[in-house]
Amino acid sequence: MQHHLEALKDSKYCSLWHDQDVRPDALPALSKSVNCELLIVGGGFTGLWAAIQVKERKPETDIILIEKTFVGDGASGRNGGFLNSSLAHGDTNTDHHFPGEADLLYQLGQQNMTELLDTLKRYNIEAYYEHVGETEVATNPGSVKTLRQAYEEEKAAGDDVVWFDKESMQAQVNSPTYLAGLWRRNGQDGTVDPARICWGLKATLLKLGVRIFENTSLNDIQPLGSDKMRSNCGYFVIESNKVLMATNAFHNPLSKLRKSIIPVWDYQIATEPLNETQLAAIGWHKTRHAMGNHANMFHYYRMTHDNRITWGGGGAVRYYFNNGTDYNYADVDLRFEQLAEEFFETFPQLAGVKFSHRWSGIIATSTRFCMVPKQAFDGRVAWTVGYTGLGVAASRFGARIAIELLGYQPSDILQMQFVKKKPKPWVPEPLRWFGVRYTQKALVKADTKGGKRGLWLKLLDSMNLGFSC
Ligand SMILES: Cc1cc2nc3c(=O)[nH]c(=O)nc-3n(C[C@H](O)[C@H](O)[C@H](O)COP(=O)(O)OP(=O)(O)OC[C@H]3O[C@@H](n4cnc5c(N)ncnc54)[C@H](O)[C@@H]3O)c2cc1C
Repeated sequence: MQHHLEALKDSKYCSLWHDQDVRPDALPALSKSVNCELLIVGGGFTGLWAAIQVKERKPETDIILIEKTFVGDGASGRNGGFLNSSLAHGDTNTDHHFPGEADLLYQLGQQNMTELLDTLKRYNIEAYYEHVGETEVATNPGSVKTLRQAYEEEKAAGDDVVWFDKESMQAQVNSPTYLAGLWRRNGQDGTVDPARICWGLKATLLKLGVRIFENTSLNDIQPLGSDKMRSNCGYFVIESNKVLMATNAFHNPLSKLRKSIIPVWDYQIATEPLNETQLAAIGWHKTRHAMGNHANMFHYYRMTHDNRITWGGGGAVRYYFNNGTDYNYADVDLRFEQLAEEFFETFPQLAGVKFSHRWSGIIATSTRFCMVPKQAFDGRVAWTVGYTGLGVAASRFGARIAIELLGYQPSDILQMQFVKKKPKPWVPEPLRWFGVRYTQKALVKADTKGGKRGLWLKLLDSMNLGFSC
């Protein structure tokens, strides 16, 4: 058996972050019909941060949060734990979609990050935050050139960036594939254990008087009279003045919400904790960089609190026909095998290490590659969805927009094009599936050509539909 398959053989399908003794028991499901002022649907970061921020702005608000499985079961408990302050998925994307708002979005992103970290401290939430910035590595000559150019521009703009040539990069993290690296140390970017944030926020909300029902799914929603909403959850009904949808990539009864996003599956694996010899072989534990390679289909990888490596992304990312989200797409051998193979190409000296966990999650992807906020039913319902792979920190800001749209201390941010501008809708099937697959293939091809974009990607770029970080 090839060694990457051998390494995966005994892994268990479970998010590494979920597999901890401190994971709280699920709370009871809704067992009678109830009323409240604000109903929040979805127990991921968006829903949890929305409840926290409403309670901080208006403590007397009567809030119910429902979650169809358990808090943190969605993307929020399955991600890479990269805490990045960007709200609109990088500078290029920001300039494409929201011209003139880059400075304000940067400032709001920094403020959001500071408030997020302050909140964790205030409520004693231990999320193993590590202030390590983000490090992008070049693995081919084309990427070295582009990355160097980015370094020069960012340095000239006054950013806190460090350039590593081949030897110095390999001294930081020893992979024979590294030809150079760019360490971005601006602000407070770093890594966290995302499930611990979910669980910490859940415990805090219970103390603040929020009613949380797990294993409770919203099936349908209708206006009730001129000022309320009626949400059907199986046998029971919740009547509320307002509803905040925090369901992200999952099917939502509101078709307007569904049109703005598609669900894209992302897969990850985690090693067992590395021993002293393995750690010494890569030297990474001394610096603990949060890593990604400079590519369209990039891998993201980092060390955990207990010295494992988590490894995700790359070519394993998939969109399945007709917004496929069912469980058949969750545990797909081929995807994990691809990840494991690529892992050992990067770290051949770790041959023999075993993967303890493999898991997957769904990323809500919008055509603007960042969050999409919106309101409906005369302002009684609001949502923010579609963070497109960069939502660990941004979802707190998405939650802020949604609660302001519902009237909880609205501020000037609601006037930004970032909030008001409508995203382009996704094309219908089967064009959608063909388009996404074709684009993914074009991105892979561009990566093999040192980032050189072909005709199709150039066409998408010209319509502001091409993504490049
Ligand atoms: C594999 C992976 C890796 C990622 N890595 C990173 C990263 O490193 N850094 C980063 O910034 N971002 C990353 N992201 C993105 C980030 O995790 C998400 O943007 C963020 O967690 C979104 O939070 P959310 O609360 O909006 O959605 P979710 O966490 O998905 O929460 C939505 C919740 O709604 C519930 N729900 C859905 N429908 C209903 C219903 N009808 N009734 C009741 N409840 C319902 C779901 O069960 C779910 O718990 C990653 C995502 C994935 C999948």
